[in-house]
Amino acid sequence: MGAGPTGAALARLLAQRQIRVTLIEASRDFRRIFRGQALMPSGLEAIAQMGLSSAVETIPQMQLDAWEFWIEGKRLFRVDEPILDPASASSKRPCTLVSQPEFLAALVQQAEVCPGFDFVQGKAVQSLMWEQGRVTGVRLADGQAIAADLVIATDGRNSTLRAKAGLRLQEQSPAVDILWFSLKGAPPLRDENVLRANVLRANVFYAVVKNGQSFGLFRSAQGDLQLGWGLNPSASGDWQRENWPKVLAEHSPAWLANYFRANANVLSSPVRFSVTVGLAPRWSVPGLLLLGDAAHPMSPIRAQGINMALRDAIVAANHLVPLGQSELSGAALHRALDQALGAIQAEREPEIVQSQALQAEEWAQGEKLRRYPILRWGASQFAPLVGWGVRRAWLQRQQQLRLGVAPVEIKV
Ligand SMILES: Cc1cc2nc3c(=O)[nH]c(=O)nc-3n(C[C@H](O)[C@H](O)[C@H](O)COP(=O)(O)OP(=O)(O)OC[C@H]3O[C@@H](n4cnc5c(N)ncnc54)[C@H](O)[C@@H]3O)c2cc1C
Repeated sequence: MGAGPTGAALARLLAQRQIRVTLIEASRDFRRIFRGQALMPSGLEAIAQMGLSSAVETIPQMQLDAWEFWIEGKRLFRVDEPILDPASASSKRPCTLVSQPEFLAALVQQAEVCPGFDFVQGKAVQSLMWEQGRVTGVRLADGQAIAADLVIATDGRNSTLRAKAGLRLQEQSPAVDILWFSLKGAPPLRDENVLRANVLRANVFYAVVKNGQSFGLFRSAQGDLQLGWGLNPSASGDWQRENWPKVLAEHSPAWLANYFRANANVLSSPVRFSVTVGLAPRWSVPGLLLLGDAAHPMSPIRAQGINMALRDAIVAANHLVPLGQSELSGAALHRALDQALGAIQAEREPEIVQSQALQAEEWAQGEKLRRYPILRWGASQFAPLVGWGVRRAWLQRQQQLRLGVAPVEIKV
């Protein structure tokens, strides 16, 4: 249940392999204020393996051309995409922003042509049904009961079913709050008029640290600028009443400050996200499996969540399809399914632990700079020298963040 990237991808994989699936989604449509869009090479590879590359080509998307890190008004370093440095990350695919509503709709449409697939949209799962200590199905908010041999909880970071199953989330501290802005219709930024082979713009992800604050700025799949501002937990003042064009200008290098002032009229009001990050020590109880953010809510740093979601779906399908296609039924099927749940967690957990550790490292580095003015001063004064070393360390972290930790391959 839950038709985010994990649930929709897994439902499609199972349905296409003749496994009966009911996908339940609380929202009436796939549109959200903002959901992750950036796919790393590992996520793009998962899409290719799922046979979705041509469908994705028809969806609004935007390649990323470079990452730039700015500190106290000076550029610390820049890395061009695709990252091909042989000493570190290497992949021919650039990080690509893909519109999530269209992506989810494409997954569900492809599942809908399969016999045995049912999509229940606009109805939330409210509780679990149990029989002799095993989950036997779900009950929807309108009282409808849906029985199942296995319930897969893909209901995201604040998973209802995780709580209903009595499974705990070990949270990584601190939970981060992010303010999200868009600048619809704003003109190109400084680097964006570069002429590429077939695209008229270059899309740079700018990470900016100044005066104890930090934010990221990039162009989304739909082409509008998006900005995520890390809400400093110790910051005073009411974020809803701030003069944001002025605040953003104060915390930007000169060229960007001018841009915010000139485009103040298209800066949206902020939307606040509370981003819990963590890992459930146990992903299953008999009859129920947590997957995706429900099992391991990912930080937005360096775009991991959708990539992990798609890789979770592939590994789960590898384990579940042979059982669903087997002659097993009743208690024997349930025993075999319950054994597979532990194996799915064992296969996926090492990559999740490592990705979250790398995300936490990136976060800690940014926090150090944000907190200590002396470090920011030093980094900006000696940017060409310091930038070289920081760039090298950053690139080394990107290898696993871009390509994944262990190979993931569809075997069914
Ligand atoms: C601000 C922000 C930016 C991010 N940027 C990126 C990025 O660029 N790239 C990236 O890879 N990751 C990014 N992430 C992380 C990424 O969005 C998630 O890790 C990913 O969406 C997890 O997928 P999921 O399917 O497990 O959960 P979700 O995407 O959360 O999907 C869960 C689904 O379950 C549904 N649901 C919830 N409760 C119920 C219920 N009771 N009954 C029925 N349905 C229910 C929800 O409506 C939703 O559709 C970002 C996260 C945040 C917060």
